[in-house]
Amino acid sequence: MQFSKIIGQQTIKNKLIQTDKDNRISHAQLFLGPEGCGKLGLAIAYAQFINCTGRNSESDDSCGVCASCRKYQILAHPDLHFIYPTSTTKEVPEKPSSKDFIGKWRSLLLDNEGAYIKLIQWYNTIGIENKQGIINVNDCTDIIKTLSYKSYESKYKVVIIWMVEKLFHSAAPKILKILEEPPDNTLFLLVAEESGQIISTILSRTQLVKIKPLSNNDISIALINNYGIEPSRANLAARNARGNFIDALEYVNSEGNDNYFEHFIVWMRLCFNINIENISAWIGEITKIGREKLKIFLSTAVDILRETMIIKIHGDKFLNYEGDERKFILNFSNTISEEFISEISRELSRASMHIERNANVSILFMDLSLKINKMLKSRARSISKGR
Ligand SMILES: [Zn+2]
Repeated sequence: MQFSKIIGQQTIKNKLIQTDKDNRISHAQLFLGPEGCGKLGLAIAYAQFINCTGRNSESDDSCGVCASCRKYQILAHPDLHFIYPTSTTKEVPEKPSSKDFIGKWRSLLLDNEGAYIKLIQWYNTIGIENKQGIINVNDCTDIIKTLSYKSYESKYKVVIIWMVEKLFHSAAPKILKILEEPPDNTLFLLVAEESGQIISTILSRTQLVKIKPLSNNDISIALINNYGIEPSRANLAARNARGNFIDALEYVNSEGNDNYFEHFIVWMRLCFNINIENISAWIGEITKIGREKLKIFLSTAVDILRETMIIKIHGDKFLNYEGDERKFILNFSNTISEEFISEISRELSRASMHIERNANVSILFMDLSLKINKMLKSRARSISKGR
């Protein structure tokens, strides 16, 4: 994987490249960043870069064609080792370790350009969605064994440990020593999302490479250029994804998301003149789309409200919507107050969190509808009083 396949993150890329130029590659580094920021891809690209034999000292990416790069591109270099959370499965009923799943791991990463993957996606891939994956003692034994051999052919032997927060507590002591004093030319690249969940003795032995969420602009450009998404949809997906490229992709790939806006219009009309029978019917329909899409629906709603707020402050010159949607937002902004927008945005974000935590969606949407009705009514009354 070359750096050019990783979206944005230019500052981090430059820093990593510089460590090689300055000859100060730290032997244990922690790539820490939120989901969908590209940390795993960056770790792989970094490993490929420092082992590339086809570039010169000025290059800012690996060559992609030398013998080392060619093996790295298919994630099958004999000096590249991956450790990740696993559990027992039908195929591996006992003593699972990362090497039992390497084929599936490679396929998942190669199918997702830039290695943008979620933990749950990995669990689904190996069929353990209902269990907690861990990095276990077998993995730690494998690391020690692997590193006791001389490196096969490359400059650095690399061990990438993905989601190191899943390292089993009692397995950790096994690798502390090797992490602190690894054999020559060995590089540990640990990848994680939550530093608070990493065993402190592991954390203290690594150098931190902190990676930020992606900018909306970087996400939009990648969606437009690499996935052929039309700009207005790419921008909307980027705003909804909040720096997480995997969420942005899920958004553009989810079917029927073009209807979210329409659903929102219908919902707001129903909330204005609330009638329990009609609103119940609407809730019955909308909740059929499932939790994941309901979350996207809610974040689209928050986005519409944000646009409405921007109109209130700056007029319509920054409005991101066209056609009927634009018309609706302009009208809507005349009907609702800034307080309403903030308050309802907060409620919708909170609802999205509750959906994630398995709240009953029908009750949740009924509750939201009644709250919105109350707010819309009080605003209408204050307008009719000539506020
Ligand atoms: Zn190369």
